[in-house]
Formats: sequence, C-alpha cells, structure tokens
Amino acid sequence: MIEGFRIVDAHCHPINDNLANSKFNAYGSPDNAVDFFADMRAYGMDFCVGSVIRSTKEPVDFTPFAETNAAGFELEEKYPDFYQTGIRINPLFVKDSIAELEKYHKKGVTWIGELVPYMSGYTSISTPEILEIFGVARDMGMTVNIHSPGTEDLDRLMKNLPDLKVVAAHPGERAAVLERTELMKKHKNLHWDISGTGLFRWGMLRYLVEQCGAEKLLFGTDFPICNISMQVYGVLSEKISEEAKAAIFSGNYDRLSGRSR
Ligand SMILES: [Zn+2]
Repeated sequence: MIEGFRIVDAHCHPINDNLANSKFNAYGSPDNAVDFFADMRAYGMDFCVGSVIRSTKEPVDFTPFAETNAAGFELEEKYPDFYQTGIRINPLFVKDSIAELEKYHKKGVTWIGELVPYMSGYTSISTPEILEIFGVARDMGMTVNIHSPGTEDLDRLMKNLPDLKVVAAHPGERAAVLERTELMKKHKNLHWDISGTGLFRWGMLRYLVEQCGAEKLLFGTDFPICNISMQVYGVLSEKISEEAKAAIFSGNYDRLSGRSR
C-alpha cells in the first residue's frame, strides 16, 4: 500500500499458470501467478483488474478467448479481495461473445478487457458486429477497456453507443494525447487509463486533468509489460490536487465498476 491512497490498477495482465503463452514478461519475471500478485502488492497495489491475454491473430472460433476468460475468472476466484477479471469478446464471433458476457455478468464480472484487437484478429471497434456486442455490455452496465483505439474509430463507437462506459487505454505521445483530449471533452462516458506510454512525459497527466477532468482518468500499469512503481510515482509527483490523485488512483474505478470493496 501507498500511504494516503487506495490504489487500483485498472489495467494489468495476470498470469495463469495453467494457460500457455499468457506471460507478457519481456525479461522473464514474474513468471507465475503467485509472483505476479506478490509483486503487485509489494509495489503498492490494493486491487487490480484486467484481462488474461494471449495472442491469437487468426482465430477460427471463440475457444481461445473462452480459455483466457476462464483463466482470468479462475484467478478472480482465487484472489477475490485483490483481483477482478476483464472478459474478452471478439466481433468475429458475435453470438459466442454475447453469451460469454451474459455468463460472466451473472457471476458478478463488470469489466471487459483490456481488449487488444491487433492480437485477436480484428481491427475496428465500431463495426456493426462489435456494436451489437457492446450494446449488450451497455445494457448490463459493464465497462469496456480498449487498447489504443484510433480517434475516428473511437469517435464512431461513442456516437453509436453514447451510454457505453469506455476506458481507452494508454495516453501515447503528445500528438495522440492532444487528439484524444478533444474526444474526451465530447463524450461523457469516455474515460482514459494512463498505463503504458505517456506518463513519463513530464506534465502530461496535469494536462489531462486540466483538459478532461480527473474524474475521467484511471490509474493503470500494464504490468508485467511495464513498471508499476514508475506509474505510481508518476501520479504522486504530479502537480495536481490530492483529490485528483485519489480519483485517478481508485475513485473512478470504484464508481465505474460498481463493485463494493
Ligand atoms: Zn495492456
């Protein structure tokens, strides 16, 4: 824990020891579930959420996604006070995806993603197929976290489903930040997680808070792809109010997920 704040990592990718190719650890650590969660706690996380991922660039059916979802939910059941899984859907398999959402929603899951289209055999997040799936998510009050969507694609999604709760992942570099900031102002249910590229640019987070409002921003690490502590101190050291830090660290996740602690 970090003194003064409850911290929820709203963007991570846990390792399930029973699922091959789900370890996104470039330098080999952590390489198992116990170490993954131990590192999370050791570096200050109080809770975490995210999908178990595996690259399936040419899927022939929904099985690979059902497997990662099952692997994620298995971890959620094992670490109920510390982890919520994020379900993966795929617009190539609409009926399976909707059935998957309904199945896990009944089990209490309120989060979808991070969805990573380029690893999953699709590119757009605003096709009729994915809108059909997201419409069901909206009706169930679920939140969807999506890897770096393109500006036009994301705008089209939000125009079609203005009541869907969306968290776009990763700030990126300055040009992308400026573009997405304008979208954030336009769409009330569009949020942003600060994992991955972006926070290491000095002043970026303060710019986002000033432009979009702290209530739109969620803390995330992308662990074990990225460093947890750099993210934590990137927020702690920013020149923003303590209230803004608390909202980013956990308040906004708590509100969007609808989960009681
Ligand atoms: Zn990620």
